[in-house]
Amino acid sequence: MVALLPRDHARLAGVHRDLVRVVERARQSVPFIVTEGVRSRERQARLVAIGASRTLHSRHLTGHAVDLAYWLDDGDGSVEQGEIRWDWPLYEQLGAAMKAAAKEVGVPIAWGGDWPSFRDGPHFELDREAYP
Ligand SMILES: [Zn+2]
Repeated sequence: MVALLPRDHARLAGVHRDLVRVVERARQSVPFIVTEGVRSRERQARLVAIGASRTLHSRHLTGHAVDLAYWLDDGDGSVEQGEIRWDWPLYEQLGAAMKAAAKEVGVPIAWGGDWPSFRDGPHFELDREAYP
């Protein structure tokens, strides 16, 4: 499995180092791209306004969260060409890979896919107790 692309690293700018370590580790076992890391207050307010997010206190504001998208490459094993997939079973795979990676590097995380009221498959954040 290939490493993260420069565009992924660019989107991880400002994200907590420990969360980046989990993302890098998980990328070795499941294909994904980083769609968002740090988010501005203006953008967060906009996402709440359109119903895409429910909180103005998102962990994205502080660099404690990332959004990932499952990536189906064009078959050559490289991620330069391909497409984002939103099929839910793929996010179960992504969630499992991120949790396994978090355990391996010793960084507790939470997955939005486990949230009961607002399931957010692409969303991963550092555990609130360990990383307030
Ligand atoms: Zn998110």
